[in-house]
Amino acid sequence: MKIVEQSVELLWSTPDPEKVIELAGRTCYKSEDKITDESSGKFVKMIHKRGHHAMIEHASASFRIICDRGIGNEIVRHRIASYAQKSTRYVRCDKGTGKRECTFIQPPGLVGTSLTDWQSICLDIEETYFNLLDDGHSPQIARSVLPLCLETEIVMTANLREWLHFINLRIAKGAHPQIRVIAQKILIHCYELAPNIFEELYNQHSPEMFAQENHENNT
Ligand SMILES: Cc1cc2nc3c(=O)[nH]c(=O)nc-3n(C[C@H](O)[C@H](O)[C@H](O)COP(=O)(O)OP(=O)(O)OC[C@H]3O[C@@H](n4cnc5c(N)ncnc54)[C@H](O)[C@@H]3O)c2cc1C
Repeated sequence: MKIVEQSVELLWSTPDPEKVIELAGRTCYKSEDKITDESSGKFVKMIHKRGHHAMIEHASASFRIICDRGIGNEIVRHRIASYAQKSTRYVRCDKGTGKRECTFIQPPGLVGTSLTDWQSICLDIEETYFNLLDDGHSPQIARSVLPLCLETEIVMTANLREWLHFINLRIAKGAHPQIRVIAQKILIHCYELAPNIFEELYNQHSPEMFAQENHENNT
């Protein structure tokens, strides 16, 4: 059995997202003549403040997210996005690993007996999964024993309006602790891409504040 950490990787984004948003937005006001090398930040801040969020849809970003199947189920509930997710129907858990093992994400906070119990059930599940494959069943049948903590890989593409919405919902204190970490990692990238859109959210959930909050939750 292999344990991995959740992760987020920025795969692609609209080049110069704030410039593209400015180009689109100034079409509404026919103020393209005001475009300079420095004008986009102020313009984007203004339309964001006014709630003219349709303009933010003109820039997009794609992320590769490694998380567990439970968190994956939550992520794909966001409808204004495009997805590709590793298949458990066609892909054996051990594909590319060279070992007879499944990969899991360990939930936060497990110690002592809870951790031993969790590891023990994961090992049992792994054994049953490979026994089913050995008996000639296909991955899509054997997968029925796999747990929510199984690692999955999702590529999610969305425009920045949807990322803003996703992060707002999924970084909130009531969201699952694991998806909160993913939302925070995505926020850091989005803030770098379009600071004038994500600044407010970033200031509320900067890496320092987030670490402090998690520390307080775990003590
Ligand atoms: C803390 C938390 C707990 C949750 N618990 C549960 C739960 O117990 N059970 C459960 O089933 N789900 C649960 N969810 C998931 C939730 O119900 C949504 O499916 C998910 O958050 C996606 O949100 P959304 O629909 O706003 O966003 P998206 O699907 O990303 O859509 C973005 C926005 O587009 C608009 N939109 C999209 N589709 C439509 C449409 N068809 N009609 C009109 N407007 C549309 C809406 O304004 C929407 O907010 C939970 C979510 C959170 C954050």
